[in-house]
Amino acid sequence: MADDDIVLGIDLGTTFSLVALVDESGPRVLTDENGEARMPSVIAVAPGGPDEQPRVTLGWEARNHAVENPHATVYSIKRLIGKGPADVEKELPFLAYAVRPGPRQTLVVDIDGRAYTPEEISSVILQALRERAERALGYAVRKAVITVPAYFDDAQRQATRTAGEAAGLEVLRIINEPTAAALAYGIGLRQDTGKAATPPRGHSPLPMMRCSDQEVGDGGDATGETVAVYDLGGGTFDVSIMRLEGGVFQVLSTAGDTHLGGDDFDREIIKLVAREVHEQFGVSIEAPATKQALRGFAEAVKVRLSQTESAELELDLGNDRKYRRTVTRDEFERLIDPFVTRTLELMDRALRDAHLTRDELSRLVLVGGSTRMPIVRRRVEEFFGRPPYTGLDPDQVVALGAAIQGAMLGNRRWDMLLLDVTPLSLGLETMGGAMGKLIMRNTTIPCRATEMFTTFIDGQTAIKLNVLQGERELARDCRSLGEFELRGIPPMPSGMPKVEVEFMIDANGILNVSAKEQRSGKRASIQIVPNHGLTRGEIDRITRDSISFAQQDIDAHRRIDLVNQVEFDINKTEQMLGKVGTLLEADERRRIETDIAALRQLAQESGDLDALHQALDRFGRSTLHLAEIGIREALISEQKKAME
Ligand code: ADP
Ligand code: MG
Repeated sequence: MADDDIVLGIDLGTTFSLVALVDESGPRVLTDENGEARMPSVIAVAPGGPDEQPRVTLGWEARNHAVENPHATVYSIKRLIGKGPADVEKELPFLAYAVRPGPRQTLVVDIDGRAYTPEEISSVILQALRERAERALGYAVRKAVITVPAYFDDAQRQATRTAGEAAGLEVLRIINEPTAAALAYGIGLRQDTGKAATPPRGHSPLPMMRCSDQEVGDGGDATGETVAVYDLGGGTFDVSIMRLEGGVFQVLSTAGDTHLGGDDFDREIIKLVAREVHEQFGVSIEAPATKQALRGFAEAVKVRLSQTESAELELDLGNDRKYRRTVTRDEFERLIDPFVTRTLELMDRALRDAHLTRDELSRLVLVGGSTRMPIVRRRVEEFFGRPPYTGLDPDQVVALGAAIQGAMLGNRRWDMLLLDVTPLSLGLETMGGAMGKLIMRNTTIPCRATEMFTTFIDGQTAIKLNVLQGERELARDCRSLGEFELRGIPPMPSGMPKVEVEFMIDANGILNVSAKEQRSGKRASIQIVPNHGLTRGEIDRITRDSISFAQQDIDAHRRIDLVNQVEFDINKTEQMLGKVGTLLEADERRRIETDIAALRQLAQESGDLDALHQALDRFGRSTLHLAEIGIREALISEQKKAME
């Protein structure tokens, strides 16, 4: 079987490459047997026997053995493709393998006396990606769209095309990485339903491509928009400013640094560790194998600091010597701040070259693994004055966009899911595992909803927000789209902090959830593409389930609310007893204590919700007197304080 319509989208990256495609469930990246989407753009050549061909390995295997055989491990080939001897002087010191001039002003990689062209090496990676797709689909695929940086010249683009052809691919188009990133976010794609607010039913054909050789969206609603794409990867930084005019992306300017990226951040950690190990133990880290090991270690620390506020370092130096210390995110951010500042300076330069001011930018898209770092998001947001697009996985954005371009060229029918309504409700997990909806299904986008939340425990300084999608009443029956935490709430009695949560969906269907504690001004936010990977069929099923489970769900939700209320009331009562209990008659006190135990018991036994409701009401009445005393005492002590 074969499907002539399938077009692969391939992100052929400097450090990692990915392949994606669009099928009935929309755009998705394909993963290897370990569920990993990224394939290291690395190949290693092991010398064969006397008459054998050399054995080639690639991807993770080649990368993991890079230290053992540096001269035969080829990485960053993208830095050489389509270039001549004159262009690469500056690159050579960064490469551990041998590069020499080839015929007709080209370059070749020399491994054990055998010459490999950059096209050949790239084609090994492309072929592996094609095979991954064929395994996933179960049939042969030939067509592909491959991405390149916006600044690639004709020779580099042509060489990339040649590499694709050598991998058995028919390269329908070479497109710019920033264009792909924009397409992945739906920028430049028509909002499917026009102004009439009816979502399309079943499959909606994608519009035909334009008959020009430029990269096209399909008309779009966004004529005259300017889009900046900020791409911070492992070794390179690129910023591109594009204008979207009549559905065509035009690159206005590019800027960047071919040696600025995640590797620099790793190096800062390595430098710190090497210096301190030397100071404390007089050991200097020199051996290449140790250095390589330290690189992996440093990268892991860096990635951890994207998630947590601090990370423990521990290195065993042998002979009972242990280097130990904690690195905080603050400290790490101070180390890398100059690099981030430099990316923003380059962004300013690109804007200047495009004759635009920051305010004239309509959208900003973040791409590349290093944009997961909180400092990058924060500084970019400050620079731009509003949140950039971060909802899709920054590693995958380019491949997804290439697949979307491919689907447009292949004129494939698929569910775009770029509806102008939200197909499913969106909300938050509330205490006890209930789903609290903020935006109901079928709401027209763009839209916005806010709600106040508070803490449940006295002195609580953080709350976790779990963003949910679905129609059911319980969080566990809904899809969790992402979680984040609001920290640094000043300690207050429960119920006092006011946390305003805002859900905002923009015209591209991107959801921004932010939480702000009003007294302290502390904020946190997350961005999500809610319909990513959802099919029409799933939406229909989720909607159907919500009807068939309705009664059961409503009961479950009501039970959660009641149990929460029980806990809250019991807590308050116990606190009050602790404070002013001695002012009660012993009888009354004992009765309240018995009531608490009984109510707790009843809440645990689930059972009859109406009975629980009534018991809660009774409890409220029977503790009224205690509450009055509590209030009175509080007032008295306040007055005393005021007098002092
Ligand atoms: P490229 O485009 O250069 O091929 P990527 O976009 O895949 O590279 O980015 C790779 C870089 O992203 C690496 O330096 C990696 O350490 C970094 N990275 C990946 N995830 C995180 C994270 N959670 N926090 C910080 N850096 C990360
Ligand atoms: Mg990249």
